[in-house]
Amino acid sequence: METNKTCYICNKECDKGIEILGSYICRNCEQEMIDEEGSELKMEYYKSKVKSLWRNNLS
Ligand SMILES: [Zn+2]
Repeated sequence: METNKTCYICNKECDKGIEILGSYICRNCEQEMIDEEGSELKMEYYKSKVKSLWRNNLS
């Protein structure tokens, strides 16, 4: 039985993705973060998410 992981950013279940600092990020969100055409607002959202990830792991 496969267990899908839940994406840290979009909260959707996806079996393809990467794990960053113990948190799972799906392919879609990974691509969105890499995509430089993405809107600034989106980037700010991802940045704040990743920042809180760091903070959680450093504390
Ligand atoms: Zn996602």
